[in-house]
Amino acid sequence: MTRARPVRTRWWTLLVALGLTAATLVAAPDAEARTRPVRQPVAVGSGGAVATVDPEASAIGLDVLARGGNAVDAAVASAAALGVTEPYSAGIGGGGFFVFYEAATGEVHTLDGRETAPAAMRVDSFAPGGSALPFAEAVTSGLSVGVPGTPATWEEALERWGTITMNRALAGSIQLARRGFEVDETFRSQTESNADRFADFPATRELFLPDGEAPAVGTRFRNPDLADTYRLIAREGADAITTGPVAEDIVETVQQPPVDPAADRVVRPGLMTTADLAAYEVVEREPTVSDYRGLEVYGMGPPSSGGTTVGEALNVLERFDLSAMDRTQALHHYLEASAIAFADRNRYVGDPASVDVPVEELLSDGFAAERACLVEPDAVLPRPVAPGSPDGSYTGCPDGGIPGGESPEGPSTTHLTTADRWGNVVSYTLTIESTGGSGIVVPGRGFLLNNELTDFSFTDTQGGDDPNLPGPGKRPRSSMSPTIVLRDGEPWLALGSPGGATIITTVLQTLVNRVDLGQDLPTALAAPRASQRNGTTQAEPGFETAELQALGHTFTPTAELGAAAAVELLGDGRFQAVAEPTRRGGGSARVVEED
Ligand code: GLU
Repeated sequence: MTRARPVRTRWWTLLVALGLTAATLVAAPDAEARTRPVRQPVAVGSGGAVATVDPEASAIGLDVLARGGNAVDAAVASAAALGVTEPYSAGIGGGGFFVFYEAATGEVHTLDGRETAPAAMRVDSFAPGGSALPFAEAVTSGLSVGVPGTPATWEEALERWGTITMNRALAGSIQLARRGFEVDETFRSQTESNADRFADFPATRELFLPDGEAPAVGTRFRNPDLADTYRLIAREGADAITTGPVAEDIVETVQQPPVDPAADRVVRPGLMTTADLAAYEVVEREPTVSDYRGLEVYGMGPPSSGGTTVGEALNVLERFDLSAMDRTQALHHYLEASAIAFADRNRYVGDPASVDVPVEELLSDGFAAERACLVEPDAVLPRPVAPGSPDGSYTGCPDGGIPGGESPEGPSTTHLTTADRWGNVVSYTLTIESTGGSGIVVPGRGFLLNNELTDFSFTDTQGGDDPNLPGPGKRPRSSMSPTIVLRDGEPWLALGSPGGATIITTVLQTLVNRVDLGQDLPTALAAPRASQRNGTTQAEPGFETAELQALGHTFTPTAELGAAAAVELLGDGRFQAVAEPTRRGGGSARVVEED
């Protein structure tokens, strides 16, 4: 089923390949050193690069690259490892968006592996009798579980662009799940903060609360059930999840959530059937693209709002010379552009199979010019900013309209970026929605089910025109923003982040820092963040608020926004892989041959 794809050869790739061969002859690569997990925020070198939030996941991806695998192979291998070590953020019970720059053709491809609502879902499924369910009740339920898309995404990516089988891609993670990994503070505290609800589901409790509590830092966490499930996928592909005994287990778990009879938790059953699972399809989408100061910024189209919102905000910002402004003015423009783009996101973006999303107009220069004229240098636009009219007729600054709205945001999800010596690049964000997803482990299978359907609007938030209401077979709007930036037609930078709708602002701010504010990538990524989503602005400690407050901005402190992972291609066959220095305990950036 898998096949190797020819890759376009560049002069430097030949040099790199020759260099690697010579190095291999002189001294066999130290596979043990390579597979040793290393927590480090920056790595520079050649032969391929990987950046994730987790040392084990980066080491597994690196090993695949070093053994001759390409960026797609490494991305799938690292993602599978994240399913083991970051089970509360991502895994085979969830979905994601995979963006790929293919060196052989110079094209950017995107795969939509988003979770999908069952055929029985209705517009009022989250608002029976007209009033919205309490959010927490919807999160920990069978009702919010969407049909998972992650195994099918891995399969599609490997079949189309990979060079290794699923069996090889999962080999490292199967071992990892069996031998276990060392519990760190992030894993412990994420378990701890979920302990109440995990305790109410015997299967979840047995897996994640051994001895009745969160595993201690420094102990080994093993998941043999997940290793067995991965082995099934390794043998049978994604069908192992969407048909047969695992599919039956998923459906039973969703329809009759296995809650402890002694628990007094209301756990609503879900609507998913085996037919829903069997019908799941990964969809190849057109990427979004926006030109930004001579760069081409590629992103994920609907049902993610990532590409259109990052792209629209950049188009608005392009009307201003940020690099000539002082920092306060540049950050003010960043916050205003973000608020404007979110107003339009909320009004216009949903699943393109159900609503007509005006992607081209949202990303047009005419619309950006109309929206940019709202921005005042010395005043803050009143929130919420009303959405604009991306209708092709752009005359001036509009006013009036319906208010936007903000959705609850969690810190879940994970992002990884890989690049290989042939110039292929992957930017992949995957999730199970909340940290810990629905809180429900499929008994005996070792993984949590997502609660992605809580990304739908429960009731109309847009005056009768909400594009993101639930529906049969519909995919909820996402904010995931896996991004690849080309410079002079060649990949230059790839990045993404978790963080719900703050994903969009993390990606946007990192791009502004790197492109406009003269920061190198490690500085751009580590810099304190602020997130403006057409409401209050969240700001991390250290984000300069005083002068922005004088302009009229107000801030809500927040401990952390996002956990980005990025790779910059330095142009001579070398890479700078960059992960978080401190957020979520710090990530892991690796290259095959360090400088
Ligand atoms: N479900 C969210 C989305 O697709 C991601 C969850 C998170 O990052 O917290 O936008």
